[in-house]
Order: sequence, then C-alpha cells, then structure tokens
Amino acid sequence: MTTQHLIGLTPDELQQVARRLGFPAFVGKQIADWLYKKHVEGIDEMSNLSKKVRATLQSEGYAVGARKPVKCQRSKDGTVKYLFPTTDGHFVETVYIPDKERATLCVSCQVGCKMKCAFCMTGRQGFVSSLSAADILNQIYSLPERDTLTNIVFMGQGEPFDNLDAVMRAIEVLTAEWGHAWSPKRITVSTVGLQKGFDRFLNESKCHLAISLHHPIPSERAEIMPAEKAFGIKQIVELLKQQDFCTRRKMPVEQGVHQRRLSFEYIVFQGINDSISHAKALLRLLDGLECRVNLIRFHDIPDTPLHGVDEKRMTEFRDYLTSHGLFTTIRASRGQDIFAACGLLSTAEKEAEGTP
Ligand code: SF4
Repeated sequence: MTTQHLIGLTPDELQQVARRLGFPAFVGKQIADWLYKKHVEGIDEMSNLSKKVRATLQSEGYAVGARKPVKCQRSKDGTVKYLFPTTDGHFVETVYIPDKERATLCVSCQVGCKMKCAFCMTGRQGFVSSLSAADILNQIYSLPERDTLTNIVFMGQGEPFDNLDAVMRAIEVLTAEWGHAWSPKRITVSTVGLQKGFDRFLNESKCHLAISLHHPIPSERAEIMPAEKAFGIKQIVELLKQQDFCTRRKMPVEQGVHQRRLSFEYIVFQGINDSISHAKALLRLLDGLECRVNLIRFHDIPDTPLHGVDEKRMTEFRDYLTSHGLFTTIRASRGQDIFAACGLLSTAEKEAEGTP
C-alpha cells in the first residue's frame, strides 16, 4: 500500500479523508490543527482523535509525512546544510542561514533540475524528479531550527515554475490562516523565468519574486542559461512591467497596490558580464522597473571556464549601477566551506551512491 502523507493537505481535503473513512468531517479540522499548529510527527500524537480514528488512518496507509534530515553539515559561519529524504527515495539539500535577527531557509523544489544553467552544480546533476508539496513542506516542518525562521526562499535545487503545482500548494499551507499563517512577504520565489509560471504565480500569491538574470544581453544569457531560448529576459521584463509592483512608486498605497518585491539575481562572472558595457545594458534592460539587483559572488565549480571577480570589481560594478539609480546590493556569500553557497547544491553523488 502506498503511504499517503497528510502534510500538504488543506482542511477541506482532510475533511474528505475523514468522511471517506466513515468519520465526521470535523475530524479533518482536528487533523489540520495537529499538523499545522502543533507540528506532530506521528498520527499517534493526535491525542484528541479517538483510538479508532488513529488506527484507521494508519491502517489505510496515512502518515503525517514528517521525515527528519538524514545528514547535516555546519559551516564555520553558522550556516547549516541539511540532506532531507524525499517520498520517492531521493534526497534534497536545504540550507539554514542565520544572520543576526534573521534566519532564512533556502528550500529545494526538485531533485536535480532541467534548466542546465552553466554555473550550477544542480543543473549539472540533471533532472531526477519533482518534489511533492509534502516534500517541500517537510524541509520546514522537520527543520530543527523551524521556530527560529523569519524568511523562506525558494532558491535551492530545482526550478520552482517547473513544479508550480507543488510550490503553490506549499505556499498556500505556509500562508493560510489554517496553516502556518506566515506573511507572504516573508517568502521569496526565484525563477529563471518560465513563461508558463508567471500568470499563476502573480495572480495566486503575494510572495516576493526573484528573477535569475545573470546576463543582460539575450544572446549571451542564452550561452549560460539555456532557458533564455524558450522565454527571453526582454519578454520577462516586459511582462513584469505590466504588474503593479513595477509601478508602486507612481501609485498611492491606498489604491491597493501589492507590496510585492521584485529582485534580479546577478552572479558576476569575470570577463562574461562584469564590464561597464554590461552594467549599461543592465540599466537599459531594467529601466522603468521598480526592482533591486542582488549581485552574487561566483564559486568555481569543476569543468567550467567561468570564474568569479575580485572584490574591487564587484564593488565597482555595484557602485556604477547604484550611481545610475538602480538599487543594487552585494549578497553575502554563506556556507561556502560546506558547499551550501549559491550554485553549489547537488545531490548527484548521493543519488549515485544510493545512500546519504
Ligand atoms: S541555477 Fe536554478 S534553475 Fe539553473 S540549473 Fe541551478 S537549480 Fe536549476
């Protein structure tokens, strides 16, 4: 019998489960409370359900779906990388990043990735499988530091818009009053920009959006990001200009403008996208958009001609953009010594070994 995980189900769906098993619908509401308010690890802990309800749930193949990480690596800077098992027998990496009053969790949505970005170890791994909503949520649910989290970013392994059903379901559970009741402003979803995902994400969520940009010139972006060929960065920017967050400075808050934040991620590569002419192209591309740019240091990965730039170049690039009116920051690189930094996540070895 296939195990069915309760994490990720809505109260309505849990009520349907209860009714199907011959119990009153309110049992579904009780289960939702045990899952999302009390974070139980097993059905036996749901102490206000009768023994019969608990036994039936278990005999019918239901389980909470909480699975602890099987491995943990700690960086000298406090970053922690966890290896979580997935429902279908694979593994994903999740990175916990404490920083003064903030604690951010970088979650994964797929095992491997189809996007094949040239600078990313996950892209090298190739695509293995998409996570279920339960697998995505479990990275938060079973995180030892769960109660310290202030922010969640979908910037781990995989492309969120390529697994949007599960990502949207996870966001619903995270933000609903009956769920974890998080503000959507504490959640950021990052994408290379798959056309199929934009409408639904923008219409059905209020989470922040981060675009993996990395190069302002389409033909050159395509060389390091094959996804450019399917839906180009110019089309993405045009689409985003139609959204209300793009014009929020020009519209009064009382008009109900979303306070959604838009950012562009830009890994700076030596000789590839780090010149003043690239900075000018970036300014032209993003002209008219209400957004910020996050510059990211590149960490060398094997068998690639790509290299990062020194601090001086990084600062010059940022200062040029900032002095021309584009809000630009340099993102701190965290967890490099445990391969937890941007672009370094991969479970290829563990997949090949079959064990963590
Ligand atoms: S950077 Fe993101 S989208 Fe690109 S290959 Fe890596 S995980 Fe996939």
